[in-house]
Formats: sequence, structure tokens, C-alpha cells
Amino acid sequence: MPEIATLLKRRARLLGPNMTTFYDNPVHIVRGDGAWLWDADGHRFLDCYNNVPHVGHAHPKVVEAITRQAATLNTHTRYLHEGILDYAERLTDTMQHDLETLIMVCTGSEANDIALRMGRAVTGKTGIVCTDNTYHGNTDLVSHLSAKKTPIGGAVDWVKKVPSPDTLAPLGGSVDAQPQAFADEIQKAIDALEAEGHGFGTLILCPFFANEGFPDLPKGFLDPTVEVVRRAGGVIIADEVQPGFGRTGRNFWGHDRIGLAPDIVTMGKPMGNGHPVAAVVTRPEIMAEFRTRFGYFNTFGGNPVSAAAAMAVLDVLEDEGLVENARDTGDYTLGLLKELDHPMIADIRGAGMFLGVEFAKDGDTQAAAAFCAQTVEGMRERGVLLHSVGRHYHGIKIRPPMCFDKAQADVLVETLSATLKALPA
Ligand code: PMP
Repeated sequence: MPEIATLLKRRARLLGPNMTTFYDNPVHIVRGDGAWLWDADGHRFLDCYNNVPHVGHAHPKVVEAITRQAATLNTHTRYLHEGILDYAERLTDTMQHDLETLIMVCTGSEANDIALRMGRAVTGKTGIVCTDNTYHGNTDLVSHLSAKKTPIGGAVDWVKKVPSPDTLAPLGGSVDAQPQAFADEIQKAIDALEAEGHGFGTLILCPFFANEGFPDLPKGFLDPTVEVVRRAGGVIIADEVQPGFGRTGRNFWGHDRIGLAPDIVTMGKPMGNGHPVAAVVTRPEIMAEFRTRFGYFNTFGGNPVSAAAAMAVLDVLEDEGLVENARDTGDYTLGLLKELDHPMIADIRGAGMFLGVEFAKDGDTQAAAAFCAQTVEGMRERGVLLHSVGRHYHGIKIRPPMCFDKAQADVLVETLSATLKALPA
């Protein structure tokens, strides 16, 4: 097997600079099964981070569905095929709010790009509102929403970013004031877009605020926001790339969990268990307006193999009761995490297979970033893969495949306990 240093050098030469890897000591993974991964030297790692292999790495039913369809036919959506229709029916059956029509694409970025253009098509307004600590993808349009780096060409004034909700520092100064305070920020952004002549068209948010550090928010949190957006005639996109497909354990969709009725829903990562498939779901009239104005076609989107992969994921979720597992194992894991004791722990929260520990040093989250990075590295050295999240990357994100079980939860928490004990506050 090649040395890590050799691979890194080759990677830099062939893929270019700044191709980051996770961990100071990068992992060279060669095989996966369920929530377990093996590196090239045969070391086993517990995967507590990857939400793409949603029903487990290399799930045999998904592999079989992909293989069977690839051995039969793969074309594109300009031919008739039942695969995409059967999938569209099955997927939209999981949704309410007249969300009945679908475009299949290959990445979450493409899905959000389309959704934003749908917002523009139906409202005739270019203005977009998102949070100030988000990520929705990497197309030219969507990159304008990113919090971390200014897009190439510079920031645009038709995107307004509002402060994201927070658990430790709630907007408006208290958890009770936060829902209205968030809506007030959105109103300010809408007023600015209108005053500057762009007009307000679209609010896009992850209903679990995953990249924002998934603050604990009550059902109904977005009610005042919805009122503000509706009054202004805007549309709402729920980006379900992270909380979708049952990850949070009690709801299949993050928007149902928080009690939001979106106009457009986007999804990606977990949808094909690693096969590149993503989608936009919306009401028929929004779809009609978009398709009439822009005859959208995506060569690979919704091809028979992608539809088969995505259908197999829904089958496995149902057959193996994985949403229920996310709920039960999630509750169990959260209970164990809450027993951890370390002066740097400021909060422990999450839902289902989406959990986290937020660190702060004497209340200062920024000051905890280095500690968090050390925790992530320490876990990796002990064979558990997870990573950081939050404005300063000061918390750990635990987001394992949905088949994660209680014995694996024990391994995770025992390892975290040992890692934290070895780190000075
Ligand atoms: N939306 C959210 C919330 C995401 O976290 C991501 C990726 N991390 C995307 C969209 C983009 O998805 P993709 O990488 O498939 O383009």
C-alpha cells in the first residue's frame, strides 16, 4: 500500500493545491460496511460523521439495485422510463403541502441553484435571504450564500444574510425572544432588498440549521418568519440536504420537525447512499412556471440507475425501520453524551442521528475552537471519525449512518470520554 505522504504528494500534483483532507493524520479508507470503515492497513474506524452512506456503507440492497439497473439500461429523462416516476410518487408521498412534482439532479448545489431560480421565476424578484453562517452549495448563484469565503467576483447586494439562531447566544437575548427576533432580522433584510430595487423573492434555510450548529429550536420557531415572508410575497426553500430522509429520528423531513410548510424542498447527500443523486420538489404551479420559462434538462439527473439507487434507499429505510432506529439510538446516545463531564462542555444537543457537543471556554465559544480541533484529532487517533461544526468550528458534529446501533454508541461515548479526559481544559 502506498504511504500516506506519497498519496498526499500525488494528490497535490494531480488535483491541485488546497485539496483539504480531514485530520492532521489523513485517513486512507479502502472499505466500508454499515457504520464501520477500514483503512489500507486494516485499522477499523467507527464512522460517526458521514450522512451520505445514509443506510450504511456499501448496503447490499442499494448495491444490488444499482448493479441490476446498470446491467439493464441507463439513459436519460428524454426517454420514457418508470423508474423516475415510481420514485417521484414514492418520495412525494412522504410530503405534505402539495409538494408533488420533482426534478432530479446530481448534487445538492444543483438542487439549490434550481430552487433559487424557481423562486425568481414565480416572484419576479431577484433578492434572496439566507443565514450568515450557512452553506448551500457551490454553483455561481449558490456560492453567493456561503458564509466562509467571498465568492469569486465579489459579494453581491441581492443576497442579504441574517444572523443565525443560536443556543448559547439566542437572538433577542433569550430563547423565548428568539423566534420573533429572527423574523425581525428577516424583515430588515426584506426591507433592504426592496429599498435597493432588487425586491425580495426567496428565503432559503435548512430547517435544522445544520451548518449553523443545529441550535435547539422549538416546533413553531419559524412561524413569525413565515408570516413576514408571506406578507412580502416571497417563497420559502427548505434545504433538506442534511436533516432529510429521517435523520432527526421523529420526522422524515426537517421542515415537518420544525412545523414549516415550504414552497420548495431540496435534498441530496443521503438520497442515493453515495450514488450522486439529488432533487428539488415543489408544487405543480411553481414547477410549471419554472419549466415554461426555462426548459430544464439535466443529462444525468434522474437516470434509471439513479432512480433505482434512490428507491433502494427508501426501501431499506422502511424495511429496516431506520427512522425508528435513529430515534431510539439517537435518544440513547444523547443520554450517554449528557453524562459526559468536562469544563469545556457548554451544551449537548441534537435529534436522532444528528447530535453534537458545543464547547466554550468560560462562555467564549471562539476560545474553544482549538480544543474542539484537538478533540476531533484525538477521536480519529482512537478510531472514531467525526468532525467540527459551528461559527468557530467549536463544536463536534455526530452524524453517523442511520444503522448506527447502541453498542456503537457505547464505543463513541467511551472514546469521547477518554479523549476529553486526555485534554486539558
Ligand atoms: N446544502 C447543504 C445544507 C449542505 O450542507 C450541502 C453540502 N454540505 C449542500 C447543500 C451542497 O450539496 P452538494 O455538495 O451535494 O452540492
